[in-house]
Amino acid sequence: MKFLNNHPIRTTAWGVFRAVGRWPPTACLGCGAACRDGLCAACLDDLPTLPASRCAVCAMPVPSGACCGHCLAAPPAFAATHACFAYAGWLAQAIQSAKFGGRWHAFALFGRHLARTLPPPRVDAIVPVPLAADRLRERGFNQAQELAATLARAWRLPWHAELLLRARGGAHQARSSHAARLRNVRGAFQAPQRLDGATLLLVDDVMTSGASLGACAKVLLKAGAARVECCVLARTL
Ligand SMILES: [Zn+2]
Ligand SMILES: [Zn+2]
Repeated sequence: MKFLNNHPIRTTAWGVFRAVGRWPPTACLGCGAACRDGLCAACLDDLPTLPASRCAVCAMPVPSGACCGHCLAAPPAFAATHACFAYAGWLAQAIQSAKFGGRWHAFALFGRHLARTLPPPRVDAIVPVPLAADRLRERGFNQAQELAATLARAWRLPWHAELLLRARGGAHQARSSHAARLRNVRGAFQAPQRLDGATLLLVDDVMTSGASLGACAKVLLKAGAARVECCVLARTL
């Protein structure tokens, strides 16, 4: 499978400006202790993990079996979700402060740790979930792209941000209901090229209801992808 290779910019000038003085990391992202690698051994040990028994499709913890009730009743467009950390504890705080504090290098650190923890997925390419243009302007970077680029390097896979675009901005989803989230993401994404037969790994920082990832997967499948799987840094419980 060949794709047009035309990476959009990873980080805006504002994003670079905000990150100056924060690289290389001198403090642990979790506890703030002096630490050259950005993540100290104690915080790595204390990463909130997902239970081993989880839904193969959406990574939600399940007591037993391969699929949760939600995915059985209404199967999402993606076929699997690769995740091992829970959106909880210090990781949730660190993701928030990195996202809103201009620390995009945090996602490279988290991405490297995620790549070491998860088995490499069998896909043709990695696609980050695109960020709305106004959000990219205010944040200066897309955390999903930073993760996607890091995972791609670690797993020796290509990554292609140009395969999935944001057609319009989405409202803040943090406190929306599942139905409201579905309404928000309807028509929000576009796949500009044909993806005949490609198997793709969609990457995002956090999976909450799975509505955005589901909408992205739907668009990619409609453009001809054979299978879409998701990979997220953290899963809300
Ligand atoms: Zn620490
Ligand atoms: Zn599920």
